Amino acid sequence: MFLGHLAVGMAAKRAAPRTSLATLIASAQFADIIWPAFLLLGLEHVRIDPGNTAVTPLDFYDYPISHSLLTGLGWAAGFGLVYYALRRYARGAWVLGACVLSHWVLDTISHRPDMPLYPGGQTYVGLGLWNSVPATAVVELGMYIAGIAIYVGFTTARDRIGKYAFWALAATLIALYMASLLGPPPSVHALAVVSIVGWLFIPWAWWADSHRRPASDS
Ligand SMILES: [Zn+2]
Repeated sequence: MFLGHLAVGMAAKRAAPRTSLATLIASAQFADIIWPAFLLLGLEHVRIDPGNTAVTPLDFYDYPISHSLLTGLGWAAGFGLVYYALRRYARGAWVLGACVLSHWVLDTISHRPDMPLYPGGQTYVGLGLWNSVPATAVVELGMYIAGIAIYVGFTTARDRIGKYAFWALAATLIALYMASLLGPPPSVHALAVVSIVGWLFIPWAWWADSHRRPASDS
């Protein structure tokens, strides 16, 4: 899943108004943010396998550090604790931990049974939403539109940057998602590098969000 994770980050702004959209999106996408680093380090593996499911040409056969339930709980606790140590905003820390864990839940809905429960385990789960392109489009786009609606309804732009930077980000992310559906990446290395470039959306989200404020603050 991709847009669904972003939607969770956007919607979570309502639950933790003082936490930046950038931190919220980073938490919901945390497993996918660290995944390319583990690929490049050779600690996790993926195969390009067109037709693996209808939606993805990737065979996620080995990613127990970034994508298992047990490590997900650990990343969630770690993310929340580090945030609390830096910001002393308990509500934000809890919401961020929940967002990190939501990644495993949403990926388990999307993926075929390739989601590990813990490193070294042989049990894999996945409900296989990705076996259907129309069902995936309905769920991902539905979540994304809802996430944007909640974020935009809850916050208001302080200036023109707050207005246009957010909408430009939302449009760019959906364009990238559409592009990713067009065909398989040329290599796993290219996939990992492109995924790391995706980290640029975090500072972009910070920039847009810092020019908005909760609508009720006025
Ligand atoms: Zn993922």
